[in-house]
Amino acid sequence: MSLLELKGVETFYGASQALFGVTLDVSEGEVVALMGRNGMGKTTTINSILGLAKPRSGTISFGGRQVAGMRPHRIARLGLGLVPEGRRCFPNLTVFENLVAAARGSEWTYDKVVELFPRLGERRDQYANTLSGGEQQMLAIGRALMTNPSLLILDEATEGLAPVIRQHIWAAIRKLKAEGQSILVVDKTLSELLPVADRCFVLEKGVAVFSGAPEALTPELQDRYLGV
Ligand code: ATP
Repeated sequence: MSLLELKGVETFYGASQALFGVTLDVSEGEVVALMGRNGMGKTTTINSILGLAKPRSGTISFGGRQVAGMRPHRIARLGLGLVPEGRRCFPNLTVFENLVAAARGSEWTYDKVVELFPRLGERRDQYANTLSGGEQQMLAIGRALMTNPSLLILDEATEGLAPVIRQHIWAAIRKLKAEGQSILVVDKTLSELLPVADRCFVLEKGVAVFSGAPEALTPELQDRYLGV
């Protein structure tokens, strides 16, 4: 069953159109990759799902409800957990406080987050603004998980991080997938993203030009749509 379904979504910034009839879906338990070069509409798609950009036409259903036009906080409460580009945590709260402040529901707890990211346990009482970039990213993912999201959205979660930290984050994504967590992920590291994705969508100038299994995204298509 589709957890998230976008049909014919058209989103504008003022007079300029950013999305041209984007159709995309994520099923229960799937990891779906949203790809495309810079400025092709990935963040606008995510913002449309979250209610931060209002589609002018098209439909967006999440968990069986129409969400296009709903207020962002109401959409989030239906079970969307966003890890935004550029990781946002409360700088003057500790790791523990950041996680507990985000809690909603009972499945994810501080202990479960620390099991996923042991590094956060070692930094339990450290203020978020003193963490390394990678640790802040782990904390941002932990905060999103603490809301017990039915869909986790990762927007460039590994961008700009040290290789060893990126490995920790990809390992966490694989573990979450194995546990059945539905995830929509935007990332430029194809070598990590393609093996973990069940399906891929590629955007070019606001149009979904490819959708299918990662194996169907041949090197030739990768070069055409994602090459620099
Ligand atoms: P990146 O990988 O660089 O984040 P992206 O694929 O997420 O790129 P978007 O940020 O969705 O792309 O941008 C899609 C288009 O919409 C671009 O042409 C961009 O310039 C435009 N755009 C994005 N945000 C705004 C805004 N706030 N106002 C006007 N135009 C915008």
